[in-house]
Amino acid sequence: MVEMSEPMLRELRALVGEHNVLTDPEMTRGFSVDWTGRFVGQTAAVVRPHSTEEVARLLRLLWAEGIPVVPQGGNTGLVGGGVPLHGEVVLSLAGFKKLYPVDSGAGQITAQAGVTLAMLREQPLKHGLTFGIDIASRDSATVGGAIATNAGGLRMLRYGDMAAQLLGVEAVLADGSVISHLDGLTKDNTGYRLHQLLAGSEGTLAVITQARLRLVPHYTHRAVGLVALPDIASAVALAGTLRRCIPPVEAIELFLQEGVELLQRHLGLPQPFQTLSPVYLLAEAADRTDPASVLIEALADINPDSILLATSEADRKRLWRYREGHTEAISRVGIPRKLDVSVPLTAFVEFAEAIPKALSEVSASAVPIRFGHIADGNLHVNVLHAAEEADVDGAVFELVAQFGGSISAEHGIGTAKKPWLHLNRSDVEIRAARAIKASLDPANLLNPHVIFSEPESVG
Ligand SMILES: Cc1cc2nc3c(=O)[nH]c(=O)nc-3n(C[C@H](O)[C@H](O)[C@H](O)COP(=O)(O)OP(=O)(O)OC[C@H]3O[C@@H](n4cnc5c(N)ncnc54)[C@H](O)[C@@H]3O)c2cc1C
Repeated sequence: MVEMSEPMLRELRALVGEHNVLTDPEMTRGFSVDWTGRFVGQTAAVVRPHSTEEVARLLRLLWAEGIPVVPQGGNTGLVGGGVPLHGEVVLSLAGFKKLYPVDSGAGQITAQAGVTLAMLREQPLKHGLTFGIDIASRDSATVGGAIATNAGGLRMLRYGDMAAQLLGVEAVLADGSVISHLDGLTKDNTGYRLHQLLAGSEGTLAVITQARLRLVPHYTHRAVGLVALPDIASAVALAGTLRRCIPPVEAIELFLQEGVELLQRHLGLPQPFQTLSPVYLLAEAADRTDPASVLIEALADINPDSILLATSEADRKRLWRYREGHTEAISRVGIPRKLDVSVPLTAFVEFAEAIPKALSEVSASAVPIRFGHIADGNLHVNVLHAAEEADVDGAVFELVAQFGGSISAEHGIGTAKKPWLHLNRSDVEIRAARAIKASLDPANLLNPHVIFSEPESVG
């Protein structure tokens, strides 16, 4: 763990206030363990600044002493990238909660880094607008974390990823200097788009304090369809049909019998249909008038007994619970290996079906729970009961590589996936990325242990 001298702690307290420097292990524990409980670190101090100026002065101080820092938002990241696994100081941005007035003409808003995605979706509703990124961790996940991981989520199909919503940022570099670009110009080709470079940077290039974000129309009418299907191939084919209805279709999600059985056992959910089916597909459409007819038309070839359609809010929530309850039900069983991957849709069926065999070869006890954003080719492979020493991650990632996919569809590399970065990035790409890191953070103090192996060679 990084040692913090008393004079240093006094300086930090003088900067952000006594109550915003936590050193008691009872108080710092929640900031040191990730959401899954799989990644457990420790820290000498959690520092909670409340303004860009405070972050700048803090980083200047830590820079002068060569003290490494892990920026943290809602701590919902799933790849061990936001917790102090090497004893770094935690810089918590959770107190950055200011949301500026909606610019309804431009359809934009400026939000501080600690604003949650739920707040961001809710606040602009009275202007007929909302935020395009929606994930199940919406009540805790923050703007800063979503930019740093380039979050995708449930409605990416229609609105794109976090980078697509990002018009500018205010951020503090490792040496305490500030870049601020919050004017919201949608046309501005004046050299490198530094804000876009921060999307997916996982806290390694700068600490994001504010962002200028694009808003999308809020549609008042919604319809959700849940369809029971015989196999994954039927789900891929149906997702293809539904894709032709974007918009108003905005979410197309997949889960399997193995997940529904967990939901029944651990969350007490009833079976959605009379009998269990091997595969389920959930689709949502949103529009200014009732979009149910669009779903009904797209599902015309499906046996009506295999379709549940919901338009009221309560019924829609009930159907979504089958998809969104997966992470909770899995966590009730134990700490899973969470492997968020994507493959080309043409390879999706073969890949998804090959997973149980690939896992059984490294751990006979491993139980995969597969679900995800099927239309994006994105499968969350959660593995329960794997033998401690089994190379479960390697088995799945090697399979992903065989099918031409990505070892991280949306959660980032963090610390969890860095041994496999070479499966997706060539030596030249990794060298170029390291050069960017070294030029913005030459002392390697911002989240030094994520993305790249052997961080000491950076710079
Ligand atoms: C139930 C559940 C469902 C999820 N579903 C999805 C999903 O559908 N799609 C998806 O993409 N993700 C999903 N996630 C993962 C997670 O919620 C996202 O990665 C989210 O964007 C992380 O935000 P956070 O504020 O919690 O970040 P944290 O976990 O605090 O941090 C994540 C990373 O961002 C960096 N970081 C955080 N704040 C800043 C900042 N201000 N400046 C610089 N770097 C920063 C951290 O150092 C770390 O590397 C899910 C997680 C859970 C628990």
